[in-house]
Amino acid sequence: MGLRGKIRDIPDFPKKGIVFKDITPLLRDKDAFREAIDALARRYEGDSVDVILGAEARGFVIGGALAYKLGVGFVPARKPGKLPHNVTKAEYELEYGMDSLEMHQDAIEPGDKVLIVDDVLATGGTASAKVDLVEKMGGKVAGVAFLIELTFLNGREKLKGYDVFSLIQY
Ligand code: AMP
Repeated sequence: MGLRGKIRDIPDFPKKGIVFKDITPLLRDKDAFREAIDALARRYEGDSVDVILGAEARGFVIGGALAYKLGVGFVPARKPGKLPHNVTKAEYELEYGMDSLEMHQDAIEPGDKVLIVDDVLATGGTASAKVDLVEKMGGKVAGVAFLIELTFLNGREKLKGYDVFSLIQY
């Protein structure tokens, strides 16, 4: 797969010691972007997914395209204070700091099968916060999908018991 060549390593961003996986070259290339979304879609075609959940900002791009391809809806998770309606909040630890995410309280109906999508699985903190949000609202996690998995950070450990998939591993 040629996708690896479209992912740029940025050393010491946003902090010293972190090698940031920059996916903007992949998104900029129409063939690579399509290949990545199609490969993710093939993994979930035929699964019963009701809705995709993605967090800003890269989770919107990948999650939105994948939702369109799978013919399902999309719900956003956002940084605090961005969503206009009543929200549910989850806090989590990042590879490089603390953060929190909010979702609209009515974004997920009880019983909805939710596919959580993001660009990078690092420590798994962000993804497990999204799992918590989905389950708080009575949804079921259909899977957790990533473009990239940083296997040396063992993010999967935090997502034990869930169906975790990544296209590219480092
Ligand atoms: P984590 O919660 O540690 O799994 O971090 C995942 C989130 O942080 C994802 O939304 C990524 O976009 C971002 N992230 C963490 N580490 C990196 C990295 N090395 N390169 C690019 N994005 C990262």
